[in-house]
Amino acid sequence: MKTTTRVAVIGGGVVGCSVLYHLTKLGWSDVMLIERSDLTSGSTWHAAGGFHTLNGDTNMAALQGYTIRLYKELEEITGMSCGLHHVGGVTLADNRDRFDMLLAERAKHRYMGLDTHIVGPEEIARIAPITNLDGIIGALYDPLDGHLDPSGTTHAYARAARMAGAEVVTHCMVRETNQRADGSWDVVTDKGTVHAEHIVNAAGLWAREVGAMAGIYFPLHPMEHQYVVTDEVPEICERDEEHPHVMDPAGESYLRQEGRGLCIGFYEQKAKPWAVDGTPWDFGHELLPDDLDKIEESIAFAYRRFPVLERAGVKSVIHGPFTFAPDGNPLVGPVPGMRNYWSACGVMAGFSQGGGVGLMLAQWMVEGECERDTFAMDCARYGDWITPGYTRPKVIENYQKRFSVAYPNEELPAARPFRQTPMYDIFDRMGAVWGHQYGLEVVNYFAQGDEPRFETPSFRRSNAWEATKREVRTVREGVGINETHNFGKYRVTGPGARAWLDRIMAGRIPAPGRMALTPMLSPKGRLWGDFTVSCLDDETFQLTASYGAQAFHMRWFLANAEAGVRVENISDRVTGFQIAGPAAREVLQSVTRTDISDMRFLDVRSLTVGMADCLVQRVSYTGDLGYEIFCDPMVQRALWSTLWEAGQPHGMKPFGMRAMMSLRLDRFFGAWGREFSPDYTAAETGLDRFISWKKNVDFVGRTAAERERAAGAARTLRPFEVDTLDADVHAYEPIWIGGAVRGFCTSGGYSHFADKAVALGLIPTEVAQPGLEVEIEILGEMRPARMLDTPLFDPEGARLRG
Ligand SMILES: Cc1cc2nc3c(=O)[nH]c(=O)nc-3n(C[C@H](O)[C@H](O)[C@H](O)COP(=O)(O)OP(=O)(O)OC[C@H]3O[C@@H](n4cnc5c(N)ncnc54)[C@H](O)[C@@H]3O)c2cc1C
Repeated sequence: MKTTTRVAVIGGGVVGCSVLYHLTKLGWSDVMLIERSDLTSGSTWHAAGGFHTLNGDTNMAALQGYTIRLYKELEEITGMSCGLHHVGGVTLADNRDRFDMLLAERAKHRYMGLDTHIVGPEEIARIAPITNLDGIIGALYDPLDGHLDPSGTTHAYARAARMAGAEVVTHCMVRETNQRADGSWDVVTDKGTVHAEHIVNAAGLWAREVGAMAGIYFPLHPMEHQYVVTDEVPEICERDEEHPHVMDPAGESYLRQEGRGLCIGFYEQKAKPWAVDGTPWDFGHELLPDDLDKIEESIAFAYRRFPVLERAGVKSVIHGPFTFAPDGNPLVGPVPGMRNYWSACGVMAGFSQGGGVGLMLAQWMVEGECERDTFAMDCARYGDWITPGYTRPKVIENYQKRFSVAYPNEELPAARPFRQTPMYDIFDRMGAVWGHQYGLEVVNYFAQGDEPRFETPSFRRSNAWEATKREVRTVREGVGINETHNFGKYRVTGPGARAWLDRIMAGRIPAPGRMALTPMLSPKGRLWGDFTVSCLDDETFQLTASYGAQAFHMRWFLANAEAGVRVENISDRVTGFQIAGPAAREVLQSVTRTDISDMRFLDVRSLTVGMADCLVQRVSYTGDLGYEIFCDPMVQRALWSTLWEAGQPHGMKPFGMRAMMSLRLDRFFGAWGREFSPDYTAAETGLDRFISWKKNVDFVGRTAAERERAAGAARTLRPFEVDTLDADVHAYEPIWIGGAVRGFCTSGGYSHFADKAVALGLIPTEVAQPGLEVEIEILGEMRPARMLDTPLFDPEGARLRG
């Protein structure tokens, strides 16, 4: 075993082996994998080996497509068999909502190059004849669905990596990981210590324990999972070809052919977490005792859906554990706050996702960033607020909802409320219907009278419609108030603060008392943030960005730390309110003794508001006259009383996120994670207008942005007015131009101010001519849409700036 290496991958399951292979594929051959037993000794050996592309997150679905296509490549490189069965599969829908979800997925697949189809009952009967079609409306057929041999595939990854120079050491337990002052690691094993520049934690079932060796908590939890293999089934024996996969979300089951019998697995409601206090080190190539009681109801349902099962004998029951993160997606990437420590764990579908995880991680390590937005699986999507007590109920919820319809407006209830501001009970008494973001309770809207305190999950317009309209009107006609708690906020201080910001941010860094909007770019010119920078004095700045991206942004700030600059995440140390609408100025003036009549758009000032010392910024994401008023959480309730009382003569009402997202559409403002994400560049999304080309600084991403500026962006973000029925655009709906899919929506919704459905989307620049007519596919229907060029509210910016 070598004693120094560039990368030590800990764990020889399918994920660790994929990471190892992809590192070599991208050119790093001085890499090794350390496995405490034989390869596949965790969850991998007992997996059912199924793979599919379906995933609610578009980038995850694309990476699942990559994983599946990779297996042929592995076979060719190694000459080994992955035991591939590309049999295709159907995902059934037995009600309108499930069918809507499949229609939405199919639509996304069009521009992702995934060749799925919607099929009706007759075709399902032909494709999957053992299915009882009672109550089935339709299905999504995916020719890429299939299964493989888990062990053969894992060994093929390892062989391919070895062929490219990697070392694989088995029967070697990692006992300690100790960081040196230079950021490299001593990996202490049974066979000696390895000095590694980087560590990858791919320890699967033991990822928590291996993480703890470096003092890291990974928010994942193992769950028990069971599938049953039957004896021979005559209806299967009679067939000339293998029976395709059938996913039956109503029965929470997946079924496929195994030999001449069937194999069926369940995501049962009586879900059981496993190894709550830690995975035992002596757990290895063993299964958990059968627990058929747990899946009794699922089996009864399966007998109705697949009557042949009732007559089939049980050949074996496979019951084993595997890990989940709270939202079911993997935990990948550089661990925030740790140098040279990388995560490749929480992968609950190693054979659908392992290839994509390996590719993304290897790109991140070798090239510094990934080719696509990996936020859905970035370990930085959770902050340091997360605890095992939160993770466990969320993981159980995720397991139980694995096959449920995932609605775009759904708020899952487990482990809530958890993080709250001092306003929680006040807003709750006012009828708040709560959502959550990054673990924090956030008001979606306020129910009134006997309106239900619950938003109906739907792909179509929900029961939040009237409340949202009401709140939008309050803002546009009088004054609305909401919290500024869910902004990510950072304080940058020190003699080097301005120079550092000039280098990290692409835009102009403002003068004292002013704010500026600026994109933050990756070295390859992609969007890594859309920030508001406020200059409080020459050495003190406050930054505002997306609340959910805190760990993501802090990781980047720390990776670029410089002497003489201090960057603090103050997101939860500073809270406050936003007031917006034509009466906002009068309200604020009535509660401060400072004259604010000369406070211009994008001015920032320290003001005493009522009794509270506040930082006040004249800006509003509603696109209206508005102020963000930041204060210490200790005085937030006092500030609330002051503003609320002052607002009453002007009809002040609180508003929530649903209204906020409608209001921003009136002025076509983009949102982080939707229009603005690492998938896009500043030029594509129009954020290049905030780049300061004049500044004499080699800011991060400058070369790439200049190259794109010279060549012109091939696609461009544009707003559309959509002729909708009862469903609006959410994200990723295809945009058809001249009978072909030429673009896709980044987000959309309903402008209650203008009474119009609006979509924002990326289309080829050459077709973005005024008056362009397109069609947007919403839930399987082609809806006519027209490109807009003037904001729906305040086109001259008179209210915003006046
Ligand atoms: C019953 C069942 C059915 C499943 N069916 C499917 C399916 O059909 N399709 C699908 O895609 N997925 C399926 N899965 C999930 C799949 O098994 C996992 O997603 C996958 O195996 C995860 O692989 P991994 O490499 O992350 O972790 P693991 O397989 O757990 O591998 C981790 C490895 O790390 C090693 N290790 C841990 N600690 C140390 C240490 N200190 N030193 C050295 N080595 C260490 C372990 O020995 C182990 O080999 C199923 C899971 C179960 C339980």
